[in-house]
Amino acid sequence: MISVEEALTRILEAIFPLPLEKVNILDALGRVIGEDVHASRNIPPKDNSAMDGYAVRWQDTFGATQKHPALLTVIEDIPAGAIPHKSVGPGEASRIMTGAPVPDGADAIIKMEDTEKDGQKVRIFTAAHQGLDIRNAGEDVHEGEKVIHRGDVVRPAEIGMLAALGRSFISVHQRPVVAVLATGDELVDIDESPTPWQIVSSNSYSIAAQISECGGIPLQIGIAKDTREDLVAKFKAALRADLIISSGGVSVGDYDLVKDIMKEVGNNMQFWQVAMRPGKPLAFGSLEGIPIFGLPGNPVSSMVSFEQFVRPSILKMTGHKNLFRKTVKATLKEDITKKEGTRHFIRAKVDYENGQYTVSTTGEQGSGILKSMVRANGLIVLPEDATSVKAGGKVAVQLIDRSLEQTSKPGYP
Ligand code: AMP
Ligand code: MG
Repeated sequence: MISVEEALTRILEAIFPLPLEKVNILDALGRVIGEDVHASRNIPPKDNSAMDGYAVRWQDTFGATQKHPALLTVIEDIPAGAIPHKSVGPGEASRIMTGAPVPDGADAIIKMEDTEKDGQKVRIFTAAHQGLDIRNAGEDVHEGEKVIHRGDVVRPAEIGMLAALGRSFISVHQRPVVAVLATGDELVDIDESPTPWQIVSSNSYSIAAQISECGGIPLQIGIAKDTREDLVAKFKAALRADLIISSGGVSVGDYDLVKDIMKEVGNNMQFWQVAMRPGKPLAFGSLEGIPIFGLPGNPVSSMVSFEQFVRPSILKMTGHKNLFRKTVKATLKEDITKKEGTRHFIRAKVDYENGQYTVSTTGEQGSGILKSMVRANGLIVLPEDATSVKAGGKVAVQLIDRSLEQTSKPGYP
């Protein structure tokens, strides 16, 4: 039996980021950028106005107040997008809109609210200083500056920046196509009507969703019967993918052929008993150079093993650096007991109350109780040597979704 850490280390040593591809920036959302982005231009390109108002020479407004306004002659109207034609001289002003280029000669903007138009003249009720309400060329980004770093995750802000720089395409790490193969004579697909001794291959769907959720592209290979021919055929069909995941057939039952077949078809399979629960049986290796996971068949085991081993692998393939779910310390609300020797991942509901995390189990913890996952937003991680934790004790909890990042009421702590 190997530890969770050892399994994870060995797996991640064998997984590598995929090559880059060029995608439209909108398709880059959530993906990892594969190049440094240097600004090809200044943003803004020219000094421009931060306000609707008047472009002036600041000295002309010296000492201006509500009672004693400065009176300037308006020489031009500069809407956004227009090119100023006239230079602002002493005693002059140009009417200017937000975002319009500041005309030569002017060195401050007086906002509309501090002015009053009077024919060809404008009264200025406030004194400006040099640079008031002018956005300087390059004040956001100056030409040549590195604005996005290789390895950054692309968010809406990065997409906006790329657009501002005129970059419609960008290099990101490819998303892996991940083959999903269910195995078992008892399984039927979702729209077939199961006889009482058949069950729907829910793993095909939970695994596919887990793949999508971390950025992979699921490829359904279907359900293989527990026969040599069918398993070989389906594993061969899976060889189109960048990563292969099978579920079931990796434990010690009479029909658990996956192990044998993988050894046959592949050249580098390792079969482990990982000291964890659920999810003790796990196969990992490669088939014709493609990494493959043989996950256990029980619906909860398959999901928990995916969380611990496959998710970090897919994130690594897509170029991410932060591969692991956040783990928090939480106060346990009930007593839990366990057997010594394996690490337990207990399905749990985590809350954040009065500045601290609290956690309780989602009930019955059998590896076939998928409902325990449905109700969970975390996994309590109990170490190998633990045998019990009492209510009120502190436990580590892995957060497996983003529910704690959202809240029903607006506000601040
Ligand atoms: P196995 O590891 O093949 O012995 O499967 C263990 C248990 O998980 C059995 O009760 C299977 O019926 C169940 N199981 C296996 N594959 C799936 C699947 N794709 N969807 C739902 N349950 C499954
Ligand atoms: Mg089976």
